[in-house]
Amino acid sequence: MDDRKFRNAMGNFATGVTVITTEVAGDVHGMTANAFMSLSIEPKLVVISIGENAHMLEIIKTSQKYAVNILSENQQELSMNFAGQIKEEKEVSFDILGGQPVLNGALAQVTCEVVNEYVEGDHTLFIGKVTDIHLEDLEPLVFFKGKYRSLQPVKKAMNV
Ligand code: FAD
Repeated sequence: MDDRKFRNAMGNFATGVTVITTEVAGDVHGMTANAFMSLSIEPKLVVISIGENAHMLEIIKTSQKYAVNILSENQQELSMNFAGQIKEEKEVSFDILGGQPVLNGALAQVTCEVVNEYVEGDHTLFIGKVTDIHLEDLEPLVFFKGKYRSLQPVKKAMNV
């Protein structure tokens, strides 16, 4: 199977965009990620998937905790910063939720403790038990076919 075909197929799945944040010895590290999903309600679990070449991999293995910051539509620049797509080093200030660094202006900030990790292929899945949540009433940043978008209502409302 061709890598490009696989990537193109997966890029057809429209997602939100998150920045995963964590901290080791006072140093905060962030990484843009869309491989995130809700996993269980009781207990409340989420999962993220981190590539084997990402610096974030060893950092979460050490910290054993992370926060998922679901980005709002005006946070594309932050997404690009934490994906390493902007040359100039950007100074980002973090808020604290439940003792963990989180991004101000996110739709949702979800803090977790790592309860399990699974290496699958070239990624590691980190299962996080949710410890705290903060929500804001904002519109999401969307990622589809490798491009950022904003959410639009469907043109024709269904009669339901
Ligand atoms: P680095 O390359 O070390 O850092 C990334 C950038 O974040 C650098 O520019 C750095 O300066 C900046 N940064 C880090 N911490 C701070 C801080 N405290 N203050 C200011 N700036 C900081 N990869 C995955 O593994 N899983 C995914 O689910 C995933 N989804 C993605 C979704 C999208 C939409 C995009 C664009 C990329 C995605 N990636 C994903 C790729 C991933 O974001 C990049 O490969 C990333 O650069 C790897 O992060 P790293 O830990 O190696 O961080």
